[in-house]
Amino acid sequence: MLIKPEEISDIIRKKIDGYDSKMKIDEVGHVIESGDGVVKIFGLKNCMANELIDFGNGIYGMAMNLEEESVGCVLFGGEKEVKEGTIAKRTGKPVSIGVSDEIIGRVVNPLGEVLDGKEPYKVDKYRDVEFLAPSVMIRKSVDTPLQTGILAIDSMIPIGRGQRELIIGDRQTGKTAIAIDTIINQKGQDVICIYVAIGQKSSSVAGVVNTLKKHGAMDYTIVVSSTASDSAPIQFLAPYAGSAIAEYFMYEQGKDVLIVYDDLSKHAQSYRAMSLLLRRSPGREAYPGDVFYLHSRLLERAAKLDDEHGGGSITALPIIETLAGDVSAYVPTNVISITDGQIYLESELFFGGQRPAVNAGLSVSRVGGAAQIKAMKKLSGRIRIDLAQYRELASFAQFGSDLDKSTQDKLIQGERILELIKQPQYQTIPVERQVVMLYAAVNGYLSDIENSKVKEFNKGLIEYVQEKHQNLLNEIKTKKDLTKEIEEEIKESINEYKRIFSL
Ligand code: ATP
Ligand code: MG
Repeated sequence: MLIKPEEISDIIRKKIDGYDSKMKIDEVGHVIESGDGVVKIFGLKNCMANELIDFGNGIYGMAMNLEEESVGCVLFGGEKEVKEGTIAKRTGKPVSIGVSDEIIGRVVNPLGEVLDGKEPYKVDKYRDVEFLAPSVMIRKSVDTPLQTGILAIDSMIPIGRGQRELIIGDRQTGKTAIAIDTIINQKGQDVICIYVAIGQKSSSVAGVVNTLKKHGAMDYTIVVSSTASDSAPIQFLAPYAGSAIAEYFMYEQGKDVLIVYDDLSKHAQSYRAMSLLLRRSPGREAYPGDVFYLHSRLLERAAKLDDEHGGGSITALPIIETLAGDVSAYVPTNVISITDGQIYLESELFFGGQRPAVNAGLSVSRVGGAAQIKAMKKLSGRIRIDLAQYRELASFAQFGSDLDKSTQDKLIQGERILELIKQPQYQTIPVERQVVMLYAAVNGYLSDIENSKVKEFNKGLIEYVQEKHQNLLNEIKTKKDLTKEIEEEIKESINEYKRIFSL
């Protein structure tokens, strides 16, 4: 029997079919150019974007530029060891970070290496550092408050779980302080906190960790640290790594997570350094054209999931440092447009003694109001109006002209409220106490108390309520509303206390 050549080739084809996929070939290339932590690799033809590249000896990098002939790659350390000719191997997986419950309470770098001098944490699984944000279909609107414990913020610029609220201001205006107070205030609220330090001094990060420890906040907090001495790629990676950890708790455990990015200005700078080294063309302020996408894909990952998907949430507090109050610079405008509102801090207020230095007129929260408890909502509208009126009149009053009674009253009311929202660091106030303090302020109970005594009055008032109306604070906490009875009791207690106070 004669076999035709086509039949032979058909048989051979069948025999070797599938052979290709059974065989594992490492794709290996070599470095052709190296400098400043950025290398060019030849020979990695099928390399993917964001793929982890292995240079041996525990040195890794991430593929960033996929060009026709070569791959541009940033190094995570080992800048001196990787030279021309160094072998580079594809790993076939994107850059990821190891996570498990044990990471809580630890200080790690963006690669998951521990920095607190203790044993490495156990890794249950790896999560990709770059991850697609959840779609609209599986999200739910914000409905639970995330209490910062800071009166000015919880009343006027409320934050809801799953929201993205920007903290923006010049250097040394108390930006970090607000974020840290918010973390401290999450104690007992079943919220996991992540503080991501980007390009800060090591001493500042150590200071933050110590503060958190001192206030017992490290029990539910993770610090992801990349300092100014780390390379640009490590700094670039930090917020994404933090977000990956947050996603582990949100998606896989249905938990509420609060994540602070301190700060995204430095993040943009590290990305600019990297991009320039990768020879990407510079655009406005020398940033690469995709700097908007850099932050939007990060902040879109904050979400409130619907119940079907576990109901977890990630609340993001990105921080941006401005220069001389210029919010119209490139990166600040970008991040303002991505977030759901901003807390605007001003040097002038800060140095004038108004701390936290929140500018109530320019700060907004576009979605948080929906999550505010009813009692708070009823009072907070009034304090905004009082302050707005005060600002308008205060500029007139400077000229010392005769003022009518109603103008004088409005000025006094504004001053009292400004005094009320002054709050030292690390002294967060639970929402039920905020309600009592606000009630007294907006209803004019402070008008005959001197400015310098407002603080003392409020402190005394709360102590009095705790002692004589023990159930009141609890009622507010559970009912969350200003019912007739609650309102009557608040009024009564304020009147009683005022009688003692004026003695
Ligand atoms: P940087 O730009 O250096 O990061 P920042 O804007 O994060 O600064 P912080 O470090 O939070 O500012 O605060 C600056 C200083 O102001 C700190 O010494 C801090 O202790 C103090 N401070 C912040 N908030 C308050 C407050 N509410 N009351 C009193 N002091 C405060
Ligand atoms: Mg700071």
